[in-house]
Amino acid sequence: DAFIVKVSKGKALNAFIVETPEHALAAAKAADEAIARGEPLKPLSGVPLGMKDLFATKGVQTTAASHILEGFEPVYESTVSQKLWDAGAGMLGKLNMDQFAMGSSNETSYFGNVISPWRRGGGDNAPLAPGGSSGGSSAAIAARLVPGATGTDTGGSIRQPAAFTGISGIKPTYGRCSRYGVVAFASSLDQAGPMARDVRDCAILLENMAGFDPRDSTSLQLPVPKWEEHLSGDLSGKKIGIPAEYLIDGTPTEIAKLWEAGIAWVKDAGAEVVEVSLPHTKYALPAYYIIAPAEASSNLARYDGVRYGLRELAEGQNLQEMYAATRAAGFGDEVKRRILIGTYVLSAGFYDAYYTQAQKVRALIARDFENVFSMCDLLLTPTAPSAAFALGEKSADPIAMYLNDVFTVPSSLAGLPAMSVPGGLDAGGLPLGLQIIGRPLDEQGVLNAGLAIE
Ligand code: GLN
Repeated sequence: DAFIVKVSKGKALNAFIVETPEHALAAAKAADEAIARGEPLKPLSGVPLGMKDLFATKGVQTTAASHILEGFEPVYESTVSQKLWDAGAGMLGKLNMDQFAMGSSNETSYFGNVISPWRRGGGDNAPLAPGGSSGGSSAAIAARLVPGATGTDTGGSIRQPAAFTGISGIKPTYGRCSRYGVVAFASSLDQAGPMARDVRDCAILLENMAGFDPRDSTSLQLPVPKWEEHLSGDLSGKKIGIPAEYLIDGTPTEIAKLWEAGIAWVKDAGAEVVEVSLPHTKYALPAYYIIAPAEASSNLARYDGVRYGLRELAEGQNLQEMYAATRAAGFGDEVKRRILIGTYVLSAGFYDAYYTQAQKVRALIARDFENVFSMCDLLLTPTAPSAAFALGEKSADPIAMYLNDVFTVPSSLAGLPAMSVPGGLDAGGLPLGLQIIGRPLDEQGVLNAGLAIE
């Protein structure tokens, strides 16, 4: 019953698209029975989690928060969710998100925006964005409706919502978590990861989500390290780089102050701090907003009204007209914008000028990181250039919305592990996040620095 109360409390936040308390209850009962039989518990026995609605869950509606997938019930389970169930966890429900994970505020969802449980102080009661695209996950955890949730991160969708709501979230190295059964947005960037109240919970969840999967050709064939066992906030002997280019024009003073505080904390934990340079940083955002839509336009070609969810067909219409009507009705405005940008940059006349150029820039960005990681072990930056903004504040201005991803996108293009941890509050009492970026496969280093900061 507690589960049902919890989920219904969440209605005010619109964090859940589908509620599945019976799933969580079954996991809790299984845990009780194991205890009664004197059997050892599994790593997540009875833990009720939220699932971002991008993960295919067998027999439970999976929509990616889009009308075009409304009513779609997968006949299979995503590898990541299956691993969590195998570890004993249960599911409280499918969490709201930006449609097809495209957005930074959760306002592109077909099922309505999520409302952050946070409010600014000083009499300003404007409802705030929980960040995006994993905004249902961040809001549900911040409101204490779930102890942890899955997120996905293509250009910041785990880290930015974590920063906006005062929780932790890690995007592991590209390939750590299987993409099998995760609705595809931009396949060369998409990566699943955990969001939770603190770094230790993130480590525990990630251990139970990651691992090789033959059903994902980009899955890394490596064992899953014991991240939680080796967690340590002692950063002695570690060099932490501060990339000069992340101090962009117009950085609010409170973001600069947050960064200074983070630098002091990692020094207190024994780290040496060095200034480094990532010269191609300013090209990351434009490159991302070419590559991600290009891949999206290809991935989203499958939603044709034949195979999944929605079908719009009027009397006397032919197949082409059915495709067009279904896609026109099924996709939201931001999704259509991405498809149009994507098909444009991939078109014969513009491919070299945009797509090829963006791929070259991506290689330069990855090389920047490789270079600095010969001089330091980790990087410390702010997660986002602002605290949570008000709902509606940026929704009419896609460029302003895209600019919020400026600090999270570079490490996505390079496939690096990166995490956001709470770094304190701004003048209005809203949480701010600090980001730690690591070498490929160094989730341990990232988590340890996160533990030192939180
Ligand atoms: N905000 C970015 C975008 O809209 C990132 C989204 C994500 O990481 N899924 O593309």
